[in-house]
Amino acid sequence: MFLKSCLRTLAGILLVMPAMADNSSGAAGALQPDPSNECYSCEAWNELQQPFRVYGNTYYVGMAGVSAVLIDGGSELVLIDAGLPQSAKHIEANVRALGFDPANITLILLSHAHFDHAGGINAMQRYTGAEVLASPAAAAALRRGDLLPDDPQYDQPVDGRSFPAVRNVVAVEDGSEYVFGDGVVRAISTPGHTPGGMSWTWTSCEDGRCLAVVYADSIGPVSVDSYRFSDGLGDAIARSARIVRNLDCDIFLSTHPFTFEMRKKYEQGRHAFIDPEACKAYGEATLHKLEERLAEEEAAFESGG
Ligand SMILES: [Zn+2]
Repeated sequence: MFLKSCLRTLAGILLVMPAMADNSSGAAGALQPDPSNECYSCEAWNELQQPFRVYGNTYYVGMAGVSAVLIDGGSELVLIDAGLPQSAKHIEANVRALGFDPANITLILLSHAHFDHAGGINAMQRYTGAEVLASPAAAAALRRGDLLPDDPQYDQPVDGRSFPAVRNVVAVEDGSEYVFGDGVVRAISTPGHTPGGMSWTWTSCEDGRCLAVVYADSIGPVSVDSYRFSDGLGDAIARSARIVRNLDCDIFLSTHPFTFEMRKKYEQGRHAFIDPEACKAYGEATLHKLEERLAEEEAAFESGG
């Protein structure tokens, strides 16, 4: 998501440390968080959320406004996204609250390299020693701790777009599959919101009923004012929206809880997360937003704006 007004504190800038690839000790002692990002929505995004089981071996361990998902493969755990830098310690506590040991997280998967999803990854990697997987473009952004110049949100002050760098990243290709314990997770390339957006899918079973779960990345056209999707990632968004729309998808999760109506479904009960139409609706809504955005760009162009 985009926030023009995001500012990292001066102290935060001075205290940003390069990622330490210390994979030797696992999750001992307390998690050492990186300095917080400050932004207009950060406080609301980082409100506490009770962790809960979504379905089978899939659990929500994120914040009220930025997602993080845990998949239990038995001997190994997978974490998808780690929120803001200030979310990491809460995500770690949520994992423990569900009875899991964060030391068993062996893979950390990234949706896209913006500070509200990638900000906590450095701290989580230091703490767990897990391998971080991201698309090649997202891996490049993670290693910089900054957006790539072709990101639709690049053209803003560096304080508003940077996050703790993650130096130790494995770049993964579209369609790659990764085994964790008795689970398998598959990467689905969905660029557009960023050049390196990645969605993830896996199967979760409960009482013998196995369902396809999708953690869809943000795919919407969100940018700084000067960016034109018609000259940039517009075609990529259209492709990604169609991919998500057509996925085998019984349970739709995504990067921000409001996108998949988490609060409403949580209150309705876990069965509400089972909705084979939800990925389709997300893809369709994104195509509609893109159409609107391209029309606005065209109108601005014609009026000389
Ligand atoms: Zn974003």
